[in-house]
Amino acid sequence: MDSHHRNTRTTDLPPPALDGELRFDQVARAQAADDFGHIVHTAPEAVLLPGSTDDVAETIRWAAKRSRTFAAQGQRHSVWGRSGARNGIVADMSTLHSVGRVQGDRIVVGAGVTWREVLAATLPRGKAPPVLTDYLELSVGGTLVVGGVGGTTSRYGVQSDNVIAMDVVTGTGEGITCSAQSNSDLFDAVRAGLGQVGVITEATLELVAAPEQVRRFVLFYPDLAGMLTDARLLSADAGFDAVQGAILAAPTGGLSFQLDVATFFTGNPPDDELLLAGLSDDPARRNPSTIAYVDYLERLAGLEAALRANGQWFHPHPWITTFIGDSHVESVVDDELGSLDPAMDLGRFGQIVLSPIRTGAITSPLLRTPSEGLCFAFNFVRVPTTADLDDAHRLVESNRAVYERVRSAGGTLYPVSAFPMSNEDWRRHFGSAFHRLDEAEKKFDPDHVLTPGYDVFEGGPHDGVSRRRAAPG
Ligand SMILES: Cc1cc2nc3c(=O)[nH]c(=O)nc-3n(C[C@H](O)[C@H](O)[C@H](O)COP(=O)(O)OP(=O)(O)OC[C@H]3O[C@@H](n4cnc5c(N)ncnc54)[C@H](O)[C@@H]3O)c2cc1C
Repeated sequence: MDSHHRNTRTTDLPPPALDGELRFDQVARAQAADDFGHIVHTAPEAVLLPGSTDDVAETIRWAAKRSRTFAAQGQRHSVWGRSGARNGIVADMSTLHSVGRVQGDRIVVGAGVTWREVLAATLPRGKAPPVLTDYLELSVGGTLVVGGVGGTTSRYGVQSDNVIAMDVVTGTGEGITCSAQSNSDLFDAVRAGLGQVGVITEATLELVAAPEQVRRFVLFYPDLAGMLTDARLLSADAGFDAVQGAILAAPTGGLSFQLDVATFFTGNPPDDELLLAGLSDDPARRNPSTIAYVDYLERLAGLEAALRANGQWFHPHPWITTFIGDSHVESVVDDELGSLDPAMDLGRFGQIVLSPIRTGAITSPLLRTPSEGLCFAFNFVRVPTTADLDDAHRLVESNRAVYERVRSAGGTLYPVSAFPMSNEDWRRHFGSAFHRLDEAEKKFDPDHVLTPGYDVFEGGPHDGVSRRRAAPG
């Protein structure tokens, strides 16, 4: 039988019986076609609302038999269609939202819960995940597959370094529990593995004691060199729990260079003088505050509310996120700033993030960082004032150029960025770790059913159909 006939027969297979629901309607498909980037649209054939892990497994097997692709969708905060599956099946993971009880230093959660929902369960018990993304409305599964960087990454690594175990459904529809001790090849290929080899349905997360309060300062610098000098000093010293930098358009024109630094505490506040000794920021502008830990974690809420109110939250978001080694950061960032038009390239509410990260605590094998002890997250958080797609594509092209300059300076991509990557780009991106992902792919998703939006593998799926072979019905 030729592949055409095989395809015709298999595409007629009826959907499996489910605990949840499979939606084929236009509303569900249109919603699932979009993401926070609002640039790439990939309409699926159907949207699964899984009622159980079995639903995910059954539907992946059904999709594979029909030569369709399958992608999990957390909160769809990707910016380049990475959670899409054109003509394939997507799963709205938010229906897998169980939150277990805090047990000692861990909690078991459904992969579709947001970090905000995790915190709601842990904070009343005096616990929190050691690393939290700056924005809490991201799903646990969605950040574990990219890594999950937060203010405390220098100390604790990324979120995928702090997951104890995961229940995963592979591309062949097999449910497997994995951890560092058991099925570690799958565990290491799922963490920061871009959803290529498995869909996470449940995760056991590590917890630490949550502080009650935060002493926070915003430090201002006249130029990049001053900001970088203090960023290095602060990251070498354990005094602050979080050090995050930003370059923004100053209201008076030009650029503003600032570090947002925070020390967590319970009980006695830290000594400001000791904390800030030796820094070269402008002391008159230091802006100190003491706030509840939970308010610190919600520090982006004000910006989100403002952008929702002015509509820019719903505009295209051609963001790029990279890591650049300390030895090259100043020259690369200086060059980029030289050609930057803040109003056109960032927008009034946009910024360039430039945050020091010590790489020693990062252990997820597939998260690529420069081979230096200190690197900087170097991100263009572009917030266009217009919904114009041509303008968004201009910025996407600019992202590609930024990436190439960062890469040629030994830097790496944090793969949540808005521009296309070829199979060869991905191979180069993963470098010496590529074989690990490739081996796992051959074992756990040999027909390239899962997560087509990244387009990592040659012969991978396009338009919902695997190019490798149509599976027998
Ligand atoms: C406003 C905003 C703030 C952000 N802040 C940070 C930050 O502070 N730190 C940081 O590291 N990142 C940050 N990001 C990036 C973010 O972590 C990633 O884009 C993340 O993948 C989005 O999570 P999500 O739940 O929306 O996932 P989605 O966009 O739905 O999915 C992302 C990818 O993960 C896959 N996926 C989703 N769920 C699963 C699952 N259960 N199993 C397997 N694969 C799955 C999808 O198929 C897709 O490929 C931010 C993004 C936005 C828009």
